[in-house]
Amino acid sequence: MSDTNPSLPVLVSGGGIGGLAAALALTRRGLRVKVLEQAPQLGEIGAGIQLGPNAFAAFDALGIGPKARARAVYTDEMVMHDALDETLVGRIPTGEAFRARFGNPYAVIHRADVHLSLLEGAREAGTIEVATSTTVQRVEQDENGVTVHDAQGHTHRGIALIGADGVKSAVRRQYVGDDARVSGHVVYRAVVDKKDFPLDLQWNAASIWVGPNCHLVHYPLRGGEQYNVVVTFHSRDQEEWSVREGSREEVQSYFEGICPRARKLIDLPRDWKRWATADREPIGQWTFGRATLLGDAAHPTLQYLAQGACMALEDAVTLGEALRATAAAGGHRFDKAFELPPAFARRAHRAHRAVGARDGAHLPRQGRRAAGAQRPRGRAARPSVSTTRWNGCTAGRSRTAWPDRPRSGPRPLPPTGQRQRPGNAASAASA
Ligand SMILES: Cc1cc2nc3c(=O)[nH]c(=O)nc-3n(C[C@H](O)[C@H](O)[C@H](O)COP(=O)(O)OP(=O)(O)OC[C@H]3O[C@@H](n4cnc5c(N)ncnc54)[C@H](O)[C@@H]3O)c2cc1C
Repeated sequence: MSDTNPSLPVLVSGGGIGGLAAALALTRRGLRVKVLEQAPQLGEIGAGIQLGPNAFAAFDALGIGPKARARAVYTDEMVMHDALDETLVGRIPTGEAFRARFGNPYAVIHRADVHLSLLEGAREAGTIEVATSTTVQRVEQDENGVTVHDAQGHTHRGIALIGADGVKSAVRRQYVGDDARVSGHVVYRAVVDKKDFPLDLQWNAASIWVGPNCHLVHYPLRGGEQYNVVVTFHSRDQEEWSVREGSREEVQSYFEGICPRARKLIDLPRDWKRWATADREPIGQWTFGRATLLGDAAHPTLQYLAQGACMALEDAVTLGEALRATAAAGGHRFDKAFELPPAFARRAHRAHRAVGARDGAHLPRQGRRAAGAQRPRGRAARPSVSTTRWNGCTAGRSRTAWPDRPRSGPRPLPPTGQRQRPGNAASAASA
């Protein structure tokens, strides 16, 4: 018997990137969707994210490739420098050769632009209702659907529930009940206007400076009109999972000894937001009857592989494809779609690998030069990642992951004359 009941929507707990991607995948299957979001407004935090080729394959499969591509910045390379002495540690070109090999670009983008592309796509594709100031607390299931109880005293009825409510997922708490693992790593993030960003760091690259128990990341956003700045350190204090306003003094206290060029980054932002990060141990079951987990609710990782949002997008595509498969057998079957083994096994495998990157790209406080110990000063080390295999993608894989991918390429990069290339990277290329 089919689960498709036109009078009932599919409920999605959480309106972040994962929740909206799921909403889009569902509306494209002709289903009504109701997103339950705890925040008073739907939106994303003011920060950037890096997108691997797998994210672009997902955008295409979700029908929003052109929207997302138009809002992304296509970087020339990823570069890693030693934050103490400025030496180039490694670089991975992400230009034409990378794109040709993986079938899609590597890019950076403002999170709000991903969010907006998903929301626009869902609204164009079908019926999406958004209930803000709605905090999911508890779910009940019966043979015809689910009833969600929120903290505001209301109930919401649907045919199924997608738990896309992030690291602190209420849906996961009910069905799994495991504890988040607070990492002790603290992240400060800010977006800085181009006019305030140092000219000698205005690189068209995803750049990381790696120091003792810390690192600093920066890359352009919105056609280079803004720059994303992210700094991470191992906290001296006992941390609890939290997001709050940060303090400039705290950040500065963790970056003593950092070279002046990288240090400029922490002196820049007027407003910092502070995250004490957390993940969870992987679990073998993401589906519980008519409820399933997706994105960080299913597989929260620390940020070091820059894959959390990419995987949430892939989850949504997988969900849509699984529903397509069950529909072919006579109507949408959520119980069957949620359990389709090959699709979700692939997702779980990728998520396990991302959790394995917990320790991040930091040098230990003792022996801080270990990463470049055999390397004469000024000479580039070999990059630890090759362009034949990158994070979750093997060459060509993102090209063939899902059907319906238009063959459009990335939009042209900003004019070269307006961009400064990383100086060390250029000399490394000729070394
Ligand atoms: C510093 C940092 C850098 C990162 N960089 C990258 C990167 O470069 N590339 C990348 O791919 N990933 C990156 N990530 C990971 C990425 O941010 C997450 O994996 C992604 O945002 C997960 O999306 P989500 O929708 O599953 O969860 P979230 O983004 O956490 O969204 C969850 C939503 O659910 C809502 N919610 C929570 N609880 C409830 C409730 N009970 N009821 C209703 N609503 C609720 C929240 O308000 C929120 O809107 C980074 C993460 C961090 C911390």
